[in-house]
Amino acid sequence: MSSELLDDIMKKNPNTWPQPSRRKFIKTSTLGMGAFSLGVIGCSGSESSEKTAAGLDDSSKQTKKKKLGIALVGLGNYATNQLAPALLETEHCYLAGIVTGTKEKEKIWQEKYNIPSENIYNYDNYDTIAENEAIDIIYIVLPNSMHAEYSIRAAQAHKHVMCEKPMALSVDECQQMINACNEADVKLAIGYRLHYDPFNLEMMRLGQKQVYGKVTEMDAIFGFKMGNLDQWRAKKAMAGGGPLMDVGIYALQGSIYTLGELPVSLTAIETTLNKEDWPEVEGSLEWEMNFPSGLTATYKTSYEENYQYLKAKAERGFFELSPAYVYNDLAGITTDGPMVIQAVNQQAQHMDAFTRNVLDNTEIITPGEMGLRDVYIMNKIYESAANNGQRMELPDMPQVLQKI
Ligand code: NAD
Repeated sequence: MSSELLDDIMKKNPNTWPQPSRRKFIKTSTLGMGAFSLGVIGCSGSESSEKTAAGLDDSSKQTKKKKLGIALVGLGNYATNQLAPALLETEHCYLAGIVTGTKEKEKIWQEKYNIPSENIYNYDNYDTIAENEAIDIIYIVLPNSMHAEYSIRAAQAHKHVMCEKPMALSVDECQQMINACNEADVKLAIGYRLHYDPFNLEMMRLGQKQVYGKVTEMDAIFGFKMGNLDQWRAKKAMAGGGPLMDVGIYALQGSIYTLGELPVSLTAIETTLNKEDWPEVEGSLEWEMNFPSGLTATYKTSYEENYQYLKAKAERGFFELSPAYVYNDLAGITTDGPMVIQAVNQQAQHMDAFTRNVLDNTEIITPGEMGLRDVYIMNKIYESAANNGQRMELPDMPQVLQKI
């Protein structure tokens, strides 16, 4: 996150926000070096690189641009209702283009967001976006199975890449995305908006700084009752998995950034209530993860029930968010009372921060390596669930952690 953005949020929340100088981001090479490996720098590119921006051949040209142009790929629910409106609030980037397979959407979006005709693409001419200097960043908001291909093609078009969660379906795909961005010398971020949400950042601060002592219990859950069972989220080939890949990932992330630790082993069981509704992906799932501090955190996720919170108990008190992962109206409470925190537009904060990372060539807080880490963990959760809850060790855990 840029220091300007942090300053801005700190002004709004002077009592709860950590000092920027104390914020650190830990990203080292893989410990176990198993099936894949991570670069130390990942997609950050080299500090001295001349070729930094999409369609631009030197950094001075880039900084002369007032705002960087973002193209959204996949104009579904999240792009339409969250990202595009957020891009009206961003300071450093704007909605410059769209990629859509639905002809009728072209005119509607063009008029609503004043998008020039030459910045409107479909899935057939997508790669020609490489020649468009108005597009600096491509944001992939497609079904999960399409993230890898469209991110890689964006990198090959020499555009910086934001990609929605889950990063991809397999660790291999994630690694290919990271490699493509490294080769093209462009940056890659995963759409983990809660790393820019002040309520979740407060959980990080309370947990990682051990404000109430060592955390002794952690419970993180996220499920929702899915109405339309015919959508791509219920199809294994498109979604990769069920609620774990979709929303359980927030609970998983929440525990890791609150504890400031990475799990070393886990167990999982499928707890689907109505198997007939869920022939391809799990309807519900519960799991536990063991951390080096000795703590065992508990989790559940579902497409069959509505629930969400992130709760921690520590030696001298508790702190929790409920709801924890929504866009608006998050609520937090600690032993000392309700969290008094001003909400922000998470998506606008995230896209602005990524744009500053591109402009200033600074490190990404939610890099591809973090997306790969979570796909690695989720695949182990599925492996455990498929093997009657067998304990899975996590020897190849990418050592990627946002430390504050
Ligand atoms: P959606 O179904 O509403 O939109 C998907 C879009 O992809 C549609 O515009 C659809 O036309 C397009 N598409 C292109 N090819 C397709 C194909 N072969 N099959 C189906 N759709 C196709 O989904 P969404 O809720 O917008 O989710 C999109 C991505 O964003 C997912 O990866 C999801 O996990 C992620 N997401 C993230 C958040 C967040 O808070 N970060 C919230 C919602 C969704």
